[in-house]
Amino acid sequence: MTPMTVESESPDGPMSAGTGRPVRLSLTRRAGRPARHLADLSRDERRQVAVSLGQPAFRADQLSRHYFARLVDADETEAMTDLPEGGRGPLLEALLPRLLMPTRTLSCDDGLTRKIAWRTADGALLESVIMRYPDRATVCVSSQAGCGMGCPFCATGQGGLTRNLSTAEIVEQVVHAARVLRRRELAGGEGRLSNVVFMGMGEPLANYTAVTAALRRLIAPPPEGLGLSARGLTVSTVGLVPAMRRLAGEGLPVTLAVSLHAPDDELRDELVPINTRWPVAEVLAAAWEYAEASGRRVSIEYALIDGVNDDVARADALATLLTGRLAHVNLIPLNPTDGSSWQASAPAGQRAFVRRLRQRGIATTVRDTRGREIAAACGQLAAEPAGRARHVESATTVEAAGAADGSPAHGNRVLR
Ligand code: SAH
Ligand code: SF4
Repeated sequence: MTPMTVESESPDGPMSAGTGRPVRLSLTRRAGRPARHLADLSRDERRQVAVSLGQPAFRADQLSRHYFARLVDADETEAMTDLPEGGRGPLLEALLPRLLMPTRTLSCDDGLTRKIAWRTADGALLESVIMRYPDRATVCVSSQAGCGMGCPFCATGQGGLTRNLSTAEIVEQVVHAARVLRRRELAGGEGRLSNVVFMGMGEPLANYTAVTAALRRLIAPPPEGLGLSARGLTVSTVGLVPAMRRLAGEGLPVTLAVSLHAPDDELRDELVPINTRWPVAEVLAAAWEYAEASGRRVSIEYALIDGVNDDVARADALATLLTGRLAHVNLIPLNPTDGSSWQASAPAGQRAFVRRLRQRGIATTVRDTRGREIAAACGQLAAEPAGRARHVESATTVEAAGAADGSPAHGNRVLR
């Protein structure tokens, strides 16, 4: 394991992603109302904006290609030579405002994992994590600044909700990751972003409209969107049943991950407070509806917490719930957070849990703990202001089971 590296830090304020120089954010916008950005709009809507500025509609397509195909940063306007200089300024102002400023960049794993803390124009804080693997590159994005679901083992939940992110604020995290990989800014040479997991800060289905619009934008080919394969996209939910059902009807072939963490309502009520509203049976019924509608296997997420939910009886109960279903289990050894004294299950306990599930015929993988030393692992994203130290532990890889059953790799070893 390599020590963490602070690549950049700006306790006094945000820096430009392109130049590393401090920049001034426009703080005149009302809190909670991010500026309109082309990624918020459909292709037609962008073309209308261009026309409203007295420019030909195709200028919006040109600008969209710079953003989605060439991955040009908002600072690099000189690269947009096909846009006449006179019209470029108004077009950029109307469609390509800078939404996110990096305040801190940390890396570990010999530069293969990078966490970026962002600040929005109205001061909300969020984080994303880019992870490079031999066969793929994944970005873990935030859908909200903070989270209102209050799961006690999760650092994001411990901090509460600041606000929903806009579609473009979500898309921008992905475009940034694609740019970083293409420009060889991460170790391992030039890379192509293959996977996006909505496992960063926030509950994606509590920000339904912005998240589904972001999914569409990520899938659509340029100039409409980024052109990623829907197979590489995973939305993780705490179990908001009506929204899960609605998502099943969207025809978006993305993978659904359901954060279960306990097979019984008594314990799940404690670990996942929203369970008192939508209990295990309802959450799983909605998950199977999703599997049926999408034809895709649902990933059941289960954080293993020492002495809390890791007993073999619960592995059995979980297996009973999942037998015969289009699902697999992704176990996450609990990552430590400041606000909770719970610990990850001991390795022997983890192995026993896995063994029982597999004996019962349930496809099971164990996520690695990549990113722990920079507080970038599952449940550790808290987006604290730069300069404030937080307690982090060294990473220990318990088991690095691959997605042996051919499941989409983003469901496994993914960090948030
Ligand atoms: N809100 C969504 C998505 C973000 S959380 C959800 O809960 O599904 C992404 C994953 O990290 C979830 O499966 C969540 O349960 C898990 N997680 C949260 N805190 C964790 C922790 N401390 N250790 C391990 N996994 C954690
Ligand atoms: Fe929110 Fe997910 Fe954390 Fe629960 S686990 S508090 S839903 S981010």
